[in-house]
Amino acid sequence: HPLRELDTVLTTCRACPRLVAWREETARVRRRAFADQDYWARPVPGFGPPDAALVIVGLAPAAHGGNRTGRMFTGDPSGDALYAALHSLGLASRPTATHRGDGLELSGVRITAPVHCAPPDNRPTTTERDTCRPWLARELALLRPTLRAIVVLGAFGWQALLPVLAGDGWLLPRPRPAFGHGAEAWAAAPDGGHRIPLLGCYHPSRRNMSTRTLTPAMLRQVLARGARLAGL
Ligand code: SF4
Repeated sequence: HPLRELDTVLTTCRACPRLVAWREETARVRRRAFADQDYWARPVPGFGPPDAALVIVGLAPAAHGGNRTGRMFTGDPSGDALYAALHSLGLASRPTATHRGDGLELSGVRITAPVHCAPPDNRPTTTERDTCRPWLARELALLRPTLRAIVVLGAFGWQALLPVLAGDGWLLPRPRPAFGHGAEAWAAAPDGGHRIPLLGCYHPSRRNMSTRTLTPAMLRQVLARGARLAGL
């Protein structure tokens, strides 16, 4: 499938010098808990079937999460919350995601991010965001035939996503919809065909979850709505 080919090519990208240095430095230093593990230390591709109806857009891999395991949202608290919610909705085969060989499979859902390499402090620069944009654009263009809904985790992903959709010819509301938890905006496909909802959800970061800015119930609620609108 062309999306599998894209994923493979993505893993060789070295376009952002700061992020290339950080992803490799993180792997060299490691965390004590993961000292015996081989870090992925490369761009992390989207995870899930190439004919997904629901796409989840995050921010970027975490240094000791996705950058370690090679899979989006795996091996960190954000992933724990996300995969537990997806499993409870019947969209993930297991409630936990530990490493790339754990057998976890998603049904009808693909998880990706606008920045594919782990950034220091989880903060990519706008230049890095824009440099990585073509990867998300190509991924979403390949998913377009089956795409029926997008859930965006956090304002960074929302702001990165809108230009990608507009650049691919999707018609978006004007003025551009603002991000918020529970935000909902509809985009019309370039061919004048179907419309899809964009649903905003706070990012399940450690901070948002520990302060209960985002609770597991809130996360599950948005994902459930996305799944329903995607026909899953
Ligand atoms: Fe390439 Fe994106 Fe990683 Fe930059 S963040 S090096 S564009 S994969």
